[in-house]
Amino acid sequence: VTTVGVLALQGGFHEHLSLLKRAAAHLKDTRPAIWQDKELSFIEVRNPRDLSRCDALIIPGGESTTIALAAADCGLLEPLRHFVKIDHKPTWGTCAGLVLLSEEATATKKGGQELIGGLDVRVQRNHFGRQVQSFIADLELPFLESIGESKAYPGVFIRAPVVEKLLTSDGPGSKTGETTAAEVLAVVAQKTPEEDADQIVAVRQGNVLGTSFHPELTDDIRMHVWWLDHALTPSFQKENA
Ligand code: GLN
Repeated sequence: VTTVGVLALQGGFHEHLSLLKRAAAHLKDTRPAIWQDKELSFIEVRNPRDLSRCDALIIPGGESTTIALAAADCGLLEPLRHFVKIDHKPTWGTCAGLVLLSEEATATKKGGQELIGGLDVRVQRNHFGRQVQSFIADLELPFLESIGESKAYPGVFIRAPVVEKLLTSDGPGSKTGETTAAEVLAVVAQKTPEEDADQIVAVRQGNVLGTSFHPELTDDIRMHVWWLDHALTPSFQKENA
């Protein structure tokens, strides 16, 4: 059995689980040769024992400080770091999950907050403003071509972070010790009086994926299909071995 977990301490874990199940059904229907016989199990992760069963993990959107505090309370912070950075298991963070998977985060409360890390990036929390400034933007995600579907993807942004810096882009500086740098997968054009530049809203580094937006709050299963396909098929795992 291949087990995919969703960290279920706070935030949108139900939504991720339901999209994961739909995505798995889609893969079994459309790609039976690879997926039909794969036994998949999707679980909520609340303690180190749950995590130890997982082959891959999603960290949902929500509130990253709350999730980090809850993870520390359940003794999950170190096991999560181990899962991501030592075991190199496929892990995807959305919004607050991206914040937690970054090596550095700005605009955190005084004294900072605990992060899991794994992506050599610095994120700025709440970059796009407050809850009322939430928006949906059509995103170009060319990598979805690998599952045969690259029409615009509805990016849902709610108090979302951006990746303001790739830590390895200007010399050594990797905090994860990885030799491959984080790769930009998606940007959104943002024009404000101060800024007129593409903002980075999706990155991948080896086994770790982070998106500022919330695929779990859409009805669009393509990101989950793509991630499952990449995280759980041998070609991807070989790439990261
Ligand atoms: N602003 C939140 C944080 O920094 C993330 C918001 C979200 O996940 N929708 O944790």
